[in-house]
Amino acid sequence: MNDNYLMPTYARQPLSFTRGEGVWLYDSDGRAWLDGVSGIAVCNLGHCHPAVSRALARQAETLVHTSNLYRIDAQARLAEALCELAGMDKAFFCNSGAEANEAAIKIARLYGHRRGIDVPTIVVLESAFHGRTMATLTATGNVKAQQGFEPLVAGFVRAPWNDVEAIRALAATHNNIVAVLVEPVQGEGGVRVPSADFLPQLRALCDEQDWLLMLDEVQTGNGRTGRYFACNHSGVTPDVLTTAKGLGNGFPIGACLAAGKAVDVFGPGNHGSTYGGNPLGCTTALAVVETLRDEVIPGVTRKGEALVAGLRDALKDLPLVREIRGQGLIVGIELDRDCGEIVALARDNGLLVNVTAGRVVRLLPPLIISEAELATLIERTSAAIKAFARQQEAA
Ligand SMILES: *Cc1c(COP(=O)(O)O)cnc(C)c1O
Repeated sequence: MNDNYLMPTYARQPLSFTRGEGVWLYDSDGRAWLDGVSGIAVCNLGHCHPAVSRALARQAETLVHTSNLYRIDAQARLAEALCELAGMDKAFFCNSGAEANEAAIKIARLYGHRRGIDVPTIVVLESAFHGRTMATLTATGNVKAQQGFEPLVAGFVRAPWNDVEAIRALAATHNNIVAVLVEPVQGEGGVRVPSADFLPQLRALCDEQDWLLMLDEVQTGNGRTGRYFACNHSGVTPDVLTTAKGLGNGFPIGACLAAGKAVDVFGPGNHGSTYGGNPLGCTTALAVVETLRDEVIPGVTRKGEALVAGLRDALKDLPLVREIRGQGLIVGIELDRDCGEIVALARDNGLLVNVTAGRVVRLLPPLIISEAELATLIERTSAAIKAFARQQEAA
């Protein structure tokens, strides 16, 4: 087998899995890796969680797809469950994070036009990640990812991360701002956790200016930070909240939730999706949401604290480690230099990790990880970083 017929969009690792169970992935020889990536914050319930696999299999034998020309009971129930968890009012379903953000961007623009703003503009932040479609790529704060795809989409203005005053200053120079789109914790941008007053102050600023506060919880949602949504920590309710990744635990599904003045922006014909919210996806996601909410999320904060404490202790003598930070089970270990080599060092030792923003080892283990598995995660992660430090000394 070779990948000659695949577009070379990914720098793939020389590794392929045939089976997964809990926090473990196996290759065809039966060799096991501890999964510290969860398919990029997707398999929050681990691999092949029985409640999810059962719901998926049963629904696959009952009814897969009907389109949104008809009522879908599971879609209505999933919307209610998510809105209750987020404190939001209504949901629109799609198939990915970028699509959820596209829905948010369209809501913001329509909201602006209805208020007589001809070129509605959305504030986005430095080092943000919002997806790969043209609008979400424009919203993403990564020049390298944007390069070659110009012209980018109009109607975005960028502000520094974690700086409400800088966003407030934009109000003086731009009279066409309609919304602010931010991640409660930046994932791809390097596991950046804002100061505790960032979201509350941003909420107040948006209220003052009549802007929509739009939170991208594609990565932080579905229990990753220790609450169902990261905004639950600060008690801030956004006007628009997007999520995807962990929502289907691997089944592709995304959602855009709206509250307050964002609720009745979309009417019939304003937006849509052929697959979005189909019976198979929504039944699967309902099993995910209920399992996360009732059985898994209550333990996440404690596990996250144990992970950070364990890593800090294991790495305390390593001068090249700058900071270990996170919220719940999204944890970043920032080094003082680029460290992509750590991925291979960990892999050779039976651990999957990801390095993002060049120098941040990002850990996103399944939220169902046990205490013993957490100890293995800490042990193998610190071993890989120590091996990297030795290589750097020798070089
Ligand atoms: C992954 C991610 C996206 C894009 O999601 P896709 O499903 O890949 O389109 C958007 N925003 C954030 C914060 C993400 O982490």
